[in-house]
Amino acid sequence: MTTLPWSRSYNSNSGSPFRPATRRDPMASPSQLGEEYHGVHPLALQAGYKRVAWQKCDQRTTRVRVREHTCECQPIVYELCQAGGLMFVRRFYRGDGVREHQSEWLRAPAAARLWSRILLGQAR
Ligand SMILES: [Zn+2]
Repeated sequence: MTTLPWSRSYNSNSGSPFRPATRRDPMASPSQLGEEYHGVHPLALQAGYKRVAWQKCDQRTTRVRVREHTCECQPIVYELCQAGGLMFVRRFYRGDGVREHQSEWLRAPAAARLWSRILLGQAR
């Protein structure tokens, strides 16, 4: 007698509550997909936020690399850009034609601080 009677019925009962929870939970997948298809959404503006001295983009830029950007489903898209040894943040309005502004040009650590502040709603 090698097989216990209850173990056989246990194995055949695949719909039992013993079945481990599947990873594809139908309630969880839409938000997970959303995170895959969406980029970063900046948080809402916080009280006492710092105003960024936005200026019009001039054409002095030779080559700009976009290092990070916020989600393009938003009416305003921010980009963290690098050009040479300096970095800056660009801002696009997507409403009535695309207007473009840029922050002052900063060294990388200061630009990274500005970028995270924008994402956290502490600067705009
Ligand atoms: Zn989005």
